[in-house]
Amino acid sequence: MSDCLFCGIVSGDVPADLVSENDAAVSFRDINPAAPTHVLVIPRVHLPNLAAVGDAEPDTLVAMLRLAKEIAESEGVAGDGEGEGYRLVANTGPNAHQTVFHAHLHLLGGRPMGWPPG
Ligand code: AMP
Ligand code: ZN
Repeated sequence: MSDCLFCGIVSGDVPADLVSENDAAVSFRDINPAAPTHVLVIPRVHLPNLAAVGDAEPDTLVAMLRLAKEIAESEGVAGDGEGEGYRLVANTGPNAHQTVFHAHLHLLGGRPMGWPPG
């Protein structure tokens, strides 16, 4: 979609701090990090939220989850040790604080996490 910020990152028209990618997904650091590790994982295809990815492109959803797992490992937050552990978040809908309507997973780690989330 031509007016979508994250489609612009996928195409390279919008600069981003890229982390890694695979055939179906791209990841980059959040511009306003909420944790020491805060990486966004997005599908290359434009879909408005994660539920739509699961419906329309289940293989892409798996590719996003695989990329997130690899990022958690490379960022050093995948294990159970001191400072490790991470959270995957998919805000869905404006009332759940979704602000960019191209599907994305937030990968957050590197600090203790409270529950329930705000
Ligand atoms: P959400 O509020 O769940 O839709 O998440 C959107 C996220 O995109 C927010 O955490 C923003 O900080 C992040 N964001 C917005 N613009 C950019 C950008 N140009 N590069 C990286 N992250 C961005
Ligand atoms: Zn898009």
